[in-house]
Amino acid sequence: MSIEKKLQERSTSKCELCSATTNLKVYQVPPTSKGTVDDSILVCETCLNQIENPDNIDANHWRCLNDSMWSEVPAVQVMAWRMLNRIKNEGWPQDLLDMMYLDDATQKWAEATGEGLDESEKIIHRDVNGVVLQAGDSVVLIKDLKVKGSSMVAKQGTAVRRISLDPDNAEYIEGKVDGQHIVIITKYVKKL
Ligand SMILES: [Zn+2]
Repeated sequence: MSIEKKLQERSTSKCELCSATTNLKVYQVPPTSKGTVDDSILVCETCLNQIENPDNIDANHWRCLNDSMWSEVPAVQVMAWRMLNRIKNEGWPQDLLDMMYLDDATQKWAEATGEGLDESEKIIHRDVNGVVLQAGDSVVLIKDLKVKGSSMVAKQGTAVRRISLDPDNAEYIEGKVDGQHIVIITKYVKKL
C-alpha cells in the first residue's frame, strides 16, 4: 500500500490539520523525514501553502488546530506545535500551546527546525536601563571600571563609540577606551 493510501486510511481522507477533504497532499515533516507514514501527514493545499510560505500565513485558518492538536499522531502534533508557534503573538495560539503536551521525543522533533525560539531565548544586550544595545551604538560608562589585565581604569562618564556585542553572552560588550580594546559589562553602561 502506498504512503498516500496509508495516510488516507489514518486520516479518513481528511486534512490532518484542518479536516478539509479536497486537494490532499502528503507532507513529509522536516527535518529528518524518511517518507514513512509516521513522519508524514496528509494536508490540504491551503495548509501546505501556509506551512511552506510563512509570509502567506492566515492566523484564523489555524483555529482548526484547536481540534487537531489533540491528534494522537506525533507528526500531526509536531506540525500543530510549529504552526501555533509561528502565530503565537495572536494570543489564542499561545493559550493552546500552554495546554499542549508533547512527550520528550516529539518535543525535540517539533523544535528541530528552530520554530518556537522566541526573543527571550535569543541573546539580547541591554544597558543599565534595559535599552537594547546594537553593534555600532555608543555608550557611556556609568561607573569607574578597572580594566582586566591592566592598571588602567576606565573612568565614569567615558564614552565608548562603535561598540561590538559578545555573541555568546548578553552581559558583555566590547569597545575601545583610550585606544585599548576592552570588554565591558552591559549593566555599567548607558546608551548615548
Ligand atoms: Zn488543511
